[in-house]
Amino acid sequence: MTSIDLADVTVAGVSVDPRHFIGGRRVASKTTFANTSPIDGSELGNIARGGAHEIDLAVAAAREAFPAWAAMPTAERAAILNRIADLVEERLPELANVETMDNGGLLRSNLRGVMPRVAHNFRFFADWAVNHLTHDDFETRGHTNHVSWDPSGVAGLITPWNAPLMLATWKIAPALAAGDTVVLKPAEWTPLTASLLADICTEAGLPDGVFNLVQGFGREAGAALVAHPGLSRISFTGSVPTAKSIARAAADNLTPCSFELGGKSPCIVLADADIELAAALAVEQYDNAGQVCLSGTRLLVHESIADDFATAFQAKAASLRQGDPRDPDTDIGPQVHAVHFERIKGFVDRAEADGARILMGGTPNADLGGLYFTPTLVGDAARGSEILTQEVFGPVLTMQKFATDEEALELANGTEFGLAAVVVSGDRAHAAAITERLVAGTIWVNCFFVRDLRAPFGGSKKSGVGREGGTWSFDFYADVKNTVVAPHGWKE
Ligand code: NAD
Repeated sequence: MTSIDLADVTVAGVSVDPRHFIGGRRVASKTTFANTSPIDGSELGNIARGGAHEIDLAVAAAREAFPAWAAMPTAERAAILNRIADLVEERLPELANVETMDNGGLLRSNLRGVMPRVAHNFRFFADWAVNHLTHDDFETRGHTNHVSWDPSGVAGLITPWNAPLMLATWKIAPALAAGDTVVLKPAEWTPLTASLLADICTEAGLPDGVFNLVQGFGREAGAALVAHPGLSRISFTGSVPTAKSIARAAADNLTPCSFELGGKSPCIVLADADIELAAALAVEQYDNAGQVCLSGTRLLVHESIADDFATAFQAKAASLRQGDPRDPDTDIGPQVHAVHFERIKGFVDRAEADGARILMGGTPNADLGGLYFTPTLVGDAARGSEILTQEVFGPVLTMQKFATDEEALELANGTEFGLAAVVVSGDRAHAAAITERLVAGTIWVNCFFVRDLRAPFGGSKKSGVGREGGTWSFDFYADVKNTVVAPHGWKE
């Protein structure tokens, strides 16, 4: 079996190695897949297409590297992770530009928010492992219970395309800090920044085999990874159907899984809300061209203020500028891929055919062409209809009115998802009465997307299994151990 020689891909002036990264070396495959930019459909180059063979190599390399990495003092591991963070910061413009070319996210967001968070992910989990991963010892009839977090082995990580490097490092950093070694399979639509991270890991002195990267498709490399008996953990961020197939594959080996999945979150505007604030927060739900798992895409508005809210919302939404995500004035860029673009269009077309009203947008952007879908608001959709219950993952919001808190809660909690919720209210007690009864992993009151890595993050119902952030991440990646020491038996 001969491997194809792959030339480095140059994207936004940055050289990116299109091969896998296994055991500290670049490895090619016998086949490749084409990677294109959603900005203008241009070819970004061919990427190595891994499968079961490359996954076997990567898991073997990770297993070989595991004992030494696990035995390394936590502070030494943390020092390497902090060096990775330094290098991410040094190469921040390169990472931001390559990510924007690959997934179409706004360059200004990648520069100011997303890539700094990548560095922060490494610093935060390095620091947490060293300084905060503690549990007070406790006594049982004179015996001491001591809780510790031991490295567990090899973590297999599968990640999506909507914030590729940010979401991947949210798993890589705690797994490495916990003393695990890692095999990452990034999304096939956005393979590039993971490869730059591999270069950074080498430069930072991460030992060979501690971080491994296999590029390729979900049904090939992804499926081979999650079925591999050599893994101690599987952490997945993506869609519910994929999570189900991963859970089935993991069952044979009883590999523990962490799932961060989709959402259909409500944005509830109570009668006492500040309408300008509510409209501003609602418009924020178009962030990243609507490709944010946490988006509160279902606007639920009290009937007494619905008309005023709709006017304020549409005025703000009308000022959004859609265009090339590299332009600092652009607010909404393209969808990530033609397949996803068609999926979004299908949702909107079916909603309209089913009798819903398109209050704003609803079509591809005719001026821009390509993968630019106009920010859309759908009203009058029938209860239980697809557009109100299925995740669109695009710039498509729905609006429904409610008359009572009971009705708002029934609508808000009435899907199979439970990832997030936004509540807008001018009355603390009223807001609290609502948040208490919402089923969601994260709720924002009068704000959106305020995130702190100390906080638990995850979904209820079909939006996920488990929580990440702070010690919750270590509870997953580590083997949590309790050592009970008796007061007797000592020769002292
Ligand atoms: P997806 O499930 O199609 O793919 C995600 C990843 O899984 C990709 O790397 C893909 O190659 C891989 N994959 C696909 N089939 C596989 C298989 N059979 N075995 C193993 N791996 C496989 O999801 P997507 O379209 O890339 O991402 C969008 C979804 O991710 C949305 O539902 C969104 O809500 C969700 N998401 C959730 C969060 C969160 O934190 N909860 C964050 C971002 C995205």
